[in-house]
Amino acid sequence: MSRINVLDIFKKSGALLDGHFKLSSGRHSDIYYEKFNILKQPRLCEKVCVEMAKQFENDNVELVVGPTTGGIIIAYEVAKYLGTDSIYAEAADGGKGRIFKRGFHIDEGTRVLIVDDVMTRGTSIFEVIELVSKYKAEIVGIGELLDRSGGKVKFGYPFKPLAVVTADDWAPENCPLCKKGIPLTQRGSRKFQTA
Ligand SMILES: [Zn+2]
Repeated sequence: MSRINVLDIFKKSGALLDGHFKLSSGRHSDIYYEKFNILKQPRLCEKVCVEMAKQFENDNVELVVGPTTGGIIIAYEVAKYLGTDSIYAEAADGGKGRIFKRGFHIDEGTRVLIVDDVMTRGTSIFEVIELVSKYKAEIVGIGELLDRSGGKVKFGYPFKPLAVVTADDWAPENCPLCKKGIPLTQRGSRKFQTA
């Protein structure tokens, strides 16, 4: 599966939408990602996760770790293909950093693959790296469905996103789509309705 095909899956499943969107940050964008349109479909999700897993199948991965929420599903599917366990890192109480709950533990020297779904600034991945490093595990790589940073974010470990895109967003007063008078697209129904 090429990178183009992964983006195609995003588009066909409605996980990548073109339009004029107001992001949760208040900024405007011409692209919106609803990654759960892929994650909610087990067979489709498995398909992309197998592609992710194949990139690391010669790295002797012993454990796959993902951050909540989408990362739980990705880690599970990738681990299923690689024949390893999968665990997930949750937000620490108080909201800073990541912790393992549910008795999850990593033995020193374990070869760990970190995975997640869509990243923009890589905050969740950086937090998981910090957590996994506390256990003196060996991070063999990082897998991601989609890197929205345009390749700008570097983790210091082999990073293999299935697709790389550059996401533009603007403050409303600088939004080129607003200047063109294109109405904002709003979420809220199965089909996106124009505001
Ligand atoms: Zn706008």
